[in-house]
Amino acid sequence: KTRNGHEPEFIQAVQEVAETVIPYIAKNKIYNGKNILLRMVEPERLISFRVAWVDDKGEIHVNRGYRIQMNSAIGPYKGGLRFHPSVNASILKFLAFEQVFKNSLTTLPMGGGKGGSDFDPKGKSDDEVMRFCHAFMLELNRHIGPNTDVPAGDIGVGAREIGFLFGMYKKIRNEFTGVLTGKGRSWGGSLIRPEATGYGTVYFAQSMLQTQGKDFAGKNVVISGSGNVAQYAAEKALQLGAKILTLSDSQGYIHDKDGIDTEKLEFVMDLKNNQRGRISAYADKYASATFHAGKTPWEVSCDIALPCATQNELSGADAKTLIKNGCICVAEGANMPSTPEAIHEFHEAKILFAPGKASNAGGVATSGLEMSQNSLRISWTREEVDGRLKDIMSDIHDSCIEYGKDENGYCNYVKGANIAGFVKVADAMLAQGVI
Ligand code: NDP
Repeated sequence: KTRNGHEPEFIQAVQEVAETVIPYIAKNKIYNGKNILLRMVEPERLISFRVAWVDDKGEIHVNRGYRIQMNSAIGPYKGGLRFHPSVNASILKFLAFEQVFKNSLTTLPMGGGKGGSDFDPKGKSDDEVMRFCHAFMLELNRHIGPNTDVPAGDIGVGAREIGFLFGMYKKIRNEFTGVLTGKGRSWGGSLIRPEATGYGTVYFAQSMLQTQGKDFAGKNVVISGSGNVAQYAAEKALQLGAKILTLSDSQGYIHDKDGIDTEKLEFVMDLKNNQRGRISAYADKYASATFHAGKTPWEVSCDIALPCATQNELSGADAKTLIKNGCICVAEGANMPSTPEAIHEFHEAKILFAPGKASNAGGVATSGLEMSQNSLRISWTREEVDGRLKDIMSDIHDSCIEYGKDENGYCNYVKGANIAGFVKVADAMLAQGVI
């Protein structure tokens, strides 16, 4: 805390892990006296750089770019890039730290990293976004590579941005390699990667529900966000027979009492991905829906909640409301969307709760599959990738049960995910010595 006290999100993420991992270390002699957690919380490398770019009017702007290379004990650094005005070192360090455990849980050989910029893509033209991405890669390229560090997308970084970033990397380095994931299908991308985080979150929730003999069919589902993760979580839940009641963005949420069906979801995808519009437009189009400005959807009664927008979007009070209204399962599609108070409420009420590092690991797992396909110079079918994704999510669920189930049969998935993720990385670090 003395070294990172000014970084609240990072402290929050570390504290959650420490609470479950420290007692495990105490009980397992091989980790005693090795200061292993202290070594894990210090990034191997933190890169911060200037990104200067010119807007459409000829005005020069300066943003701050980052790459946090957190841990490479089990593979090259791997993790997304986030473009959002809130981006700072604390937020990226929390994300990079979580990524280390998440990537370990996938069982694929990937270390953990994260990066991004305080650049805001909202309201910018395609040309401005391109010039920013090119300027960003002009510096980032020297720190990454297919065997060193393989970035991907995150908030504000989708297919368009990955394209611009990849184009500049290829130009500077004069090589066509799998240096980024989330690429377009015709130039090295993997089928199912766009869907993977949302689908994976629902697959994980499905495994949790199965432990109680339940499933998605006929359940009311509340989802926050309307970006990549939210859209595909909604699509998969719909396929499994659920009724989707809400979606949101940073301005508020829409509640459709009749449910968001496939056709309405297509409207949302076009609105968000092509028009880059606001979710409130949904309520203008569909009479069955209402828009709730400045609010989050947790006040709507549901069986299952899938927070898929951003960190700390679900408070202790929200958790109490969800539980009171009969919610039985919460699976995080976003990273750290539930506050520590909310997680405490879920555990007290003994409902099913999955932390993002377990339930949203499908995205990075499929990125790992994209890396494999790039290295092998082959491309797997949709069914093959989806099958592997399903297997990985089911294996992560089993790992959580192994380390997280208590004597009364209740599974603390936070504890399970933290310990299962820790063991693999810690063992590799011990084997590699003090470096
Ligand atoms: P997108 O940029 O596609 O969508 C983000 C969504 O969240 C938008 O609806 C956005 O609304 C909303 N949002 C962003 N910031 C805020 C905020 N401060 N308050 C309220 N709403 C906000 O991002 P993704 O869907 O890719 O990412 C969503 C979450 O999932 C993030 O936590 C990310 O780290 C996590 N994640 C993503 C993965 C992926 O593969 N994409 C993998 C694993 C985790 P608006 O349009 O108004 O900004």
